[in-house]
Amino acid sequence: MLFDKIKESLKSENQVNYNKIIKKLEFDEEQSNSSKIVIKAPNIYIANYIKRKYAHKILELYKKETGIEAIIEITTKTVKPKTYSTEEILTNSAPSVLIPEYTFESFIVGPSNQFAYTAAKTVAHNPGKSYNPLFIYGGVGLGKTHLLQAIGNYLKTKLKVLYVTSEQFMNEFREHVRNHTMDIFHEKYRNCDCLLIDDVQFFSGKEQTQEEFFHTFNELYSQQKQICLSSDRPPKKLNDLVDRLRSRFEAGLIVDIQPPELETKIEIIRKKCEINGIYLPEEVIEFIATKLNDNIREIEGMIVKLNAMAKLLGIRDITRDFAKQALKEHIKDKKENITLEDIIELIAKEFNIKPSEITSKSRNQNIVAARRTAIYLAREFTKESTPTIAKYFGLKDHSAVSHAIKSFNKKLEKDNNFRIKIEELKNKIQLKKGE
Ligand code: ADP
Ligand code: MG
Repeated sequence: MLFDKIKESLKSENQVNYNKIIKKLEFDEEQSNSSKIVIKAPNIYIANYIKRKYAHKILELYKKETGIEAIIEITTKTVKPKTYSTEEILTNSAPSVLIPEYTFESFIVGPSNQFAYTAAKTVAHNPGKSYNPLFIYGGVGLGKTHLLQAIGNYLKTKLKVLYVTSEQFMNEFREHVRNHTMDIFHEKYRNCDCLLIDDVQFFSGKEQTQEEFFHTFNELYSQQKQICLSSDRPPKKLNDLVDRLRSRFEAGLIVDIQPPELETKIEIIRKKCEINGIYLPEEVIEFIATKLNDNIREIEGMIVKLNAMAKLLGIRDITRDFAKQALKEHIKDKKENITLEDIIELIAKEFNIKPSEITSKSRNQNIVAARRTAIYLAREFTKESTPTIAKYFGLKDHSAVSHAIKSFNKKLEKDNNFRIKIEELKNKIQLKKGE
């Protein structure tokens, strides 16, 4: 086939890229015709890479073979992903059913959630026999529901899994009491193999529901059925919870999920883009990761919003500036009260030099690096204009500042370790101001 031949030629040019990328491309016979080649890529990132680096080449090779000047279209192989509206994503309430997308595979693991992830997986592989109950707690939008549901999705084909929020449990309980149908309620909750109850903090103060849940718990527990719970705080801190229920919650394994570190956050955003069929350049992904807060649900909502706005405005390439503008209401304003002096002070300490050296004309390597970093931070964190920054740091003019920042950004893009170091500095400067 012609496309195979084209792939072969590309293979001989670059074996590594072939194995990593080209091999995975598929020719879309149905959508193609003699003057239009449609190629399916496994995901949006590869699709964009091919557009940039290979589209031209493929057309050239095609022309060589057929003499036809064709056009090319790169699509993604994934079946149209289920897209959620911003509102759907932003509602804080947990879903009422198992959502198939919430799996262990789609969960990004980092130091902040490693423990919870491993515990959840262990439970899924060995229900009722490893940790019972498993109690996951953590802040809003950090993945508690996702992990609970991942356990459910993993087990649902083999076992009777029941996923409910504590509120659903309570409402059902009340309704069955009212209708005198408690036997149906018991049948449902005491005959499952794995009970997942989300957001148990809402049990607080609901004594009758707690009482009922206590019995449900004991019944399941004595039969070695798995129970998993999530909450926004640890059992110890759950107010108005009867002690015997608290001690049940504490009897198994308690794990927490912490806010994600930058690297994890970036990975999660990448994953969410992929799932939602959205392409964002790296600089935008990093911008979102650093400027928005840690609630992943909110971040996901913003990604969808950004994409929707770009579509609406007919913008094809979402840039950092576009993101900044589009999300400005959601960005924590960090420029409030950080001054050039604050930056100089921090950088001098970090680079172990005198503050005056930063603004001097010295060409000493360490000082130059410090100066560049300070200029970058000044642009990021202060309200000062580029001419002011130029003057302050003894640069020729504002374009020298822009130039310095551009090359700094390039380095950030290329050098992972460097980027992390700079992120740490950024955190420090904000912390300092927050003190
Ligand atoms: P919580 O129940 O803790 O409030 P959710 O489990 O509902 O949070 O997570 C909010 C959103 O963030 C979901 O879309 C979820 O898939 C996503 N999410 C959170 N943590 C991760 C992660 N580590 N990897 C992938 N997605 C995540
Ligand atoms: Mg939740």
